Formats: sequence, structure tokens, C-alpha cells
Amino acid sequence: KGRVEGKTALITGAAGGLGQAMAWMLAREGAKVAVTDMDLAGAEALAAAINAEIAGSAFAFAQDVTDEGQWASVVEAAVQAMGGLSILINNAGIGGQFVWAEQDSLENWRTVQAVNIESIMLGCKYALPHLRASGAGSIVNISSVAGLAAAPGMGAYNATKAAVWMYTKTVALECAKAEWNVRANSVHPVFIKTPILDPFIAMAGGDEDRAHERLARGIPLKRIGEPDDVAYCVLYLASDESKFVTGSEFKIDGGMLA
Ligand code: NAD
Repeated sequence: KGRVEGKTALITGAAGGLGQAMAWMLAREGAKVAVTDMDLAGAEALAAAINAEIAGSAFAFAQDVTDEGQWASVVEAAVQAMGGLSILINNAGIGGQFVWAEQDSLENWRTVQAVNIESIMLGCKYALPHLRASGAGSIVNISSVAGLAAAPGMGAYNATKAAVWMYTKTVALECAKAEWNVRANSVHPVFIKTPILDPFIAMAGGDEDRAHERLARGIPLKRIGEPDDVAYCVLYLASDESKFVTGSEFKIDGGMLA
């Protein structure tokens, strides 16, 4: 029996590096997965690959997580396709511009806020009725070490990822108070090998190994992360193994913030 057998998960930004790893892991452990992304072709390719291994377990949807109407319709469609919704993984996120405060702009902030934090409010709002109905729901919000510690040039990203961290606790306490048996936790990765690191590879003159080695310098375990390093934590939080865990934050950072 899989660790999330019989569960039903919606994963946003699933065409990306981390989302794909999470979708594969949850599906291999017995869940049905609704994989959504602005990049519909990417989400469809992922669902097709998962279904080729585990027939009937993955469903792809186009979704811009900043659009409230799409949240309403995608959640309904995912519930129809999977027969319910017990896990919400708010994973879609963007880095925004690398810019210091004096040069920063409202345009940059509004874009990053919409994708990184407003999307999570909307996701919780539209998924909660179904998570409650499932009898044992889990919300996993993907923040970052950048939500717990700052870095120059990352104002909008730092602020929105810190907001994810705190908002997760608010939702966790509301669910606990209401006795809905829905939990909410946040996950805080350090650099993980996904396309989100492309700007760092460009800064290293296109040399991927050199970029990874540079990024690993501040990490006690002396490497950057693999997508599965994050997916294993998400799997635990999505499963009933973590049934006493809510309002918590999980660093996946090779010891960086220790
Ligand atoms: P990625 O760029 O590979 O994937 C992000 C995905 O989100 C893409 O498929 C993109 O199409 C999608 N997306 C972007 N805007 C969207 C929108 N408005 N609506 C729907 N989908 C949208 O990046 P990743 O590394 O897989 O990132 C996943 C999450 O992990 C993000 O929240 C990111 O901030 C967080 N994170 C990543 C790292 C890392 O180093 N990879 C570290 C810490 C946190």
C-alpha cells in the first residue's frame, strides 16, 4: 500500500522542476494527481508520462494561479476528475527581478505578490471546502529559505515567501480551531536543481557545474538540492504520517540556516 493511497492531490506549477518531482512521488505512492500549470503542454506531458506508468492517475489542467476565476473552475474540474480533493500543494512561484530597493518597482512587486502569495490565499479559499469534505486534508505551501532569511536584491521574493510562511500558520490555526481535520505546513527549500536557477547558470557564463558549485558554497552539506529532496518532505506532509503536524515549517537546505 502506498503512503498516500486513495488520496487526491492538486499541484500548481507542476510543469516545473519541483512540481514534477512531487507529482511523480505522490502518484507512485498511490495518490491521484491533478497537475496544473500556465504551461499546459508541460502539464499534459507530465500527466501522460505518469499515466503511462500508472494508468488513470494523473490529470492535467491549464491554470494561471493569479486568476481567481480559474481557481474556482480548476478546483471543480480536478474534484470531478479525481472524485475529491484531499491534498493541495501550492507550488507555483517566481523569482521576480533581482533588484535592490532603490531601483525596485511596484510592477515587480505586484507581479511577484500575485504569483507567490495571492495565489496561495486563492488556492486555500477554493480548495478548503473539498479538503474538509475529504475528512483528512493537507495543504503544503512551497515557500523558500528566502522566506526565513533575506538576501540583497531579493526584496519582493523575500517578502512574499515570508508571507507564505506566516499565512500558512493562520490557515493551520483556523482549520484546527474549526476541527476540520485539515492541516497546513510550509516547505522552505534552498537552491534546488530546476529551471528557476537558470539566471545563476547564465551568470556563470552558461557553465552549469560552475553555477551549482558557486551556489553550494554557503551550504554545509556542500551541494545544492535535487527535486526529490523536496518531494520526500512534501510526501510526508501530504500523508497521514504527519497527522500531528500543522502550522510548521520545514527547511530543506543542507544545513544552510542551521
Ligand atoms: P520552475 O521555474 O521549474 O517551476 C515553476 C513553475 O511554475 C513553472 O512550470 C511555471 O510555468 C509555473 N508558473 C509560474 N507562474 C505561474 C502562474 N502564474 N500560474 C501557474 N503556473 C505558474 O521552479 P521550481 O524550482 O520548480 O519552483 C517551484 C517552487 O519552489 C516555487 O514556488 C519556488 O519559489 C520554490 N523554490 C524553488 C527553489 C529552487 O532553487 N528551485 C528554492 C526555493 C523555493
